[in-house]
Amino acid sequence: VFDVSKPWLNRVLEREPKAFLTAVSEVDFEVEPQTTYALVGESGSGKSTIGRMLVGLLKPSGGNVDIDGVDLANETDAAKIDAIRSDIQMIFQDPYASLNPRWRVRDIIAEPVAARGGKTDGLAEKLLEQVGLSVKDAGKFPHEFSGGQRQRICIARALASEPRLIVCDEPTSALDVSVQSQVLNLMSDLKDNFGLTYVLITHDLTVVQHMADRIGVLYLGRLVEEGAPEDLFDAPKHPYTQMLLDAAPRMDGFGREATPPEGEIPDPINPPSGCAFHPRCPLAAEVCHKERPVMRRLGNTRVACHMAEE
Ligand code: SF4
Ligand code: MG
Repeated sequence: VFDVSKPWLNRVLEREPKAFLTAVSEVDFEVEPQTTYALVGESGSGKSTIGRMLVGLLKPSGGNVDIDGVDLANETDAAKIDAIRSDIQMIFQDPYASLNPRWRVRDIIAEPVAARGGKTDGLAEKLLEQVGLSVKDAGKFPHEFSGGQRQRICIARALASEPRLIVCDEPTSALDVSVQSQVLNLMSDLKDNFGLTYVLITHDLTVVQHMADRIGVLYLGRLVEEGAPEDLFDAPKHPYTQMLLDAAPRMDGFGREATPPEGEIPDPINPPSGCAFHPRCPLAAEVCHKERPVMRRLGNTRVACHMAEE
């Protein structure tokens, strides 16, 4: 299961049309209610695949996706799946692509509720106000709004079904930098007001520094480090987390030149032996070429690296 819009994937498929790719493997994490869990990784790390599994858009070939005791991956009772799926919504990167250009905002926002035969009177207007837009916007079309406003409309639509979990896939990366923090602040406020739980998918560690309660760092479809933001930012234990931090612009005012992550993301069809990160890792030793490191607990973080120490 994968996203065919990825340029690197198309290159692989041209070369090997029947290639088999394991997008995500052995990833396990728990999201506490009313917290934000961030999944961070570069393109091809499997983060969107995981997001789609969480909302039931993709079925994993193994494992569980347990949402409040219902296993979305294996449950066969359609009524149970429907009930759980209405508690989960997803917000995507490109707010324009996910809004029907021929529909008025009122109908776009109310659609998930209307589809289930629910009451929609005044619903869009109420939600527009909650996301910082105006009641008058209900009669307009998507093209009449800026990128940030469109993402607000997507958020309003997600809220319409009163979800408890919202999976946000790069919700601000298509927006201007000046607008990104406004949308993130809105998301934080809504989380508090509605008691929401977020899974926030991003390639940008700085986005999650102030929003996430826990961060999972993904590399080539595997979790390599997981912990609280303060631990990951102050004392990253995995060399890849360190590399992501070095590549991120600093938000603390002490300007530091960002260095882009070094090396190419390897071919996911033929991942490197041992630790998949070894071709890019400054600490790689002989054992790293041969043995895949397993996740282990070090203090309050979990990390998959042979060399990681307290
Ligand atoms: Fe680097 Fe080895 Fe750790 Fe992998 S296991 S991140 S190659 S030191
Ligand atoms: Mg993605």
